[in-house]
Amino acid sequence: MNLNSFNNINNFDNLGLNKRLLKIIYDIGYKVPTDIQIKCIPLFLKGKDILSIAKTGSGKTASFVLPILNNIEFNNNLQVLILSPTRELVIQIFNFFKLFIKYFKKIKIISIYGGQSYNIQFNNLKKKPNIIIATPGRLLDHLNKKTICLYNIKILVIDEADEMLHMGFINDVKNIIKNIKIKHQTALFSATMSLDITKIARNIMNNPEEIILNKDNINLNIIQYFCFINSKFKTNILINFLETEIFNRLIIFVKTKDFSLKLSSLLEKKGYLSSALNGNINQSLREKIIYNFRNGFINILVATDIASRGLDIDNVNLIINYDIPYNICSYIHRIGRTGRADNIGKSILFLENKDLRFLRLINRKFNNNIKRIYVPDFNTLLNVRFNKILHLIKKNFNKNYLLLNFYKNLLNKITNFFNDKKEIQDITLSLLILVYENNFSKISYKDLLKFKNIK
Ligand code: AMP
Repeated sequence: MNLNSFNNINNFDNLGLNKRLLKIIYDIGYKVPTDIQIKCIPLFLKGKDILSIAKTGSGKTASFVLPILNNIEFNNNLQVLILSPTRELVIQIFNFFKLFIKYFKKIKIISIYGGQSYNIQFNNLKKKPNIIIATPGRLLDHLNKKTICLYNIKILVIDEADEMLHMGFINDVKNIIKNIKIKHQTALFSATMSLDITKIARNIMNNPEEIILNKDNINLNIIQYFCFINSKFKTNILINFLETEIFNRLIIFVKTKDFSLKLSSLLEKKGYLSSALNGNINQSLREKIIYNFRNGFINILVATDIASRGLDIDNVNLIINYDIPYNICSYIHRIGRTGRADNIGKSILFLENKDLRFLRLINRKFNNNIKRIYVPDFNTLLNVRFNKILHLIKKNFNKNYLLLNFYKNLLNKITNFFNDKKEIQDITLSLLILVYENNFSKISYKDLLKFKNIK
């Protein structure tokens, strides 16, 4: 995140949070509050209604979680309701709370979302939670079943309000609000400001304080590229990029659920650690996939837009928009999965000639800062492969003598890359010269051929 404008507040001490919470914040390792935290936390603590427009990855979750924990009362009442559009986001906010909740043993918090068994949720509700984080649909089911009562809600947070709107949740949200009986504080977070958002805010909020941090919603930590491709070779082009780009974690966005599965299994066949993530995948599997991605068991997600909202996973440093997003908003959210916290991220958008209009739109949005990148050509690929082999040799070679099996493997690998046998020998020899430098006289070209023949 851009921790660059601190308005003279360069620590958490002056925001009005209590000492216990401050200690936890510093224990967790946060040093300076982000812009949204500086603006939002003091107003939130005073009980003001808040309409906040902030870019993805700006630290907004903490900007409501911290004042909620500061102001919560230790009793058995349900005091706080947080609404979020997707299951993944609900779980993410829940996990964020968990970071802090271990210091607040008396506070009970549960998540409610579609796809999770009702029995688990009924049991959790029996524990009399103080805070519920929910998707609107499943929460309404509980309200209709009278298994949740919102009478005592004092704080309502609506996260990703623009997405709620987009997914047609707004009537559900209004119906939910009708169930809150007492005067309450409302905080609404949205990544984009629109007429509809202002209308909703006016309808459900009481004279809200507006916090508009990054009107243009531009995250400068993301270096954006577009690449013109021929759709016939799209998959091959993707694989060329996978070879030439350096990434820790990558999300590839595609249009359809079916294709996310197809592409991911193709990548797996090619040896990549990849999983598909789409709305058809059942909830527990989705959670497992995100867990695997977060913990490095896989490093590529092939996702539909369901994954583009709010997901905060460390070290996603590359986003490939394999299929173009359906609008600018979706583009911003997709690329917003990288360049989070202080990290630099990169995004590549695959385009065909028919997509020029979209390119113009995003270029206007990002002040012509989207640069052209070209499909990696044969020479670039060759270079990358050379370097990989060289690295392998340097890592594995015992400098005193040649390891026969290793050599055979190496030749096999090289044979897969090149068809011309003479070329293979020359390349191998050149690589060995590079690795062996002055010691090379110990090996002759004849030896090389001998080893090749053993293969
Ligand atoms: P969010 O925009 O809420 O999804 O947060 C993005 C990331 O920033 C999360 O990983 C947070 O843990 C992290 N974060 C939030 N506030 C701070 C802070 N003050 N200092 C460092 N990291 C933070």
